[in-house]
Amino acid sequence: MNNRCALVSQVIPFSCVDGPGSRLALFLQGCNLRCKTCHNPWTIGRCNDCGVCVPHCPHEALNIQAGRVWWQEEDCQKCDTCLHLCPQQATPMALRLSVTDIVTQIRQVAPFIEGITVSGGEATTQLPFLVALFSTLKADATLKQLTCLVDSNGLLSETGWQKLLPIFDGAMLDLKAWNNDHHRFLTGRENGLIKQSIRWLAQHQRLTELRLLVIPGHCDYLENLKPLVTFIHSLGKIPVRINAFHAHGVYGDAAAWRSATAEDVEPLAQALEKEKISVIRPARYL
Ligand code: SF4
Ligand code: SF4
Repeated sequence: MNNRCALVSQVIPFSCVDGPGSRLALFLQGCNLRCKTCHNPWTIGRCNDCGVCVPHCPHEALNIQAGRVWWQEEDCQKCDTCLHLCPQQATPMALRLSVTDIVTQIRQVAPFIEGITVSGGEATTQLPFLVALFSTLKADATLKQLTCLVDSNGLLSETGWQKLLPIFDGAMLDLKAWNNDHHRFLTGRENGLIKQSIRWLAQHQRLTELRLLVIPGHCDYLENLKPLVTFIHSLGKIPVRINAFHAHGVYGDAAAWRSATAEDVEPLAQALEKEKISVIRPARYL
């Protein structure tokens, strides 16, 4: 087994919101976008051991030894003080886990789940680990029935996707804005490579779901409906999930943005359905 390690922010043994069925969801630390609307902004950066958070932990669960920050899980009360103070949008609580560590956890829940989803941060920023994990699962007689999905922002080259192609079942990708300028405003990066990833995954039968995000007052899908519909039709029969923005957990300007309601989502949902596109509406609104 290739026992690579990943920096992991969280493992949820049973999730029903990270792909079809009940799934183990693995959240990797670090992202290559800077989305204003991120609900887990502390998963974006990586801890550089600056020590800023250490003296502020109210439960003395953090300390510095030999220039490295150490987290004492048994003392941590999950108060999130350290997350809010971190200038890197990181966490001192991320764990370095190996493929063996994760496979051991997967084995314990395997009879009760349909598959695993690797999310983030951005899962593909730790591509060698992802390839090693999925290859191990597909080669294991008792685990190979589990589907291996990636929840991705799509900022990965075709060469990267090709490495995953033989060993993964699909990706759920977000297209947060149609226009490049608006995408850059929302995420810090343009969307050309993301659209390319969406097309490539659809051509290779690996696009599980396309996701659009409705943000009241900051959403450009309807004004670009014609090219958006043409783009979605070119992908084949791909379900489009519409997510509703909510400000919970968001840092910065977007924390003051209004959360989306059904009235904000319906015009887009109905416009897409009119074009015979299959739409999955938000399960709930906050
Ligand atoms: S988590 Fe953030 S604040 Fe704490 S040591 Fe790491 S980089 Fe510094
Ligand atoms: S969440 Fe952070 S600040 Fe709070 S107890 Fe745990 S380590 Fe300390």
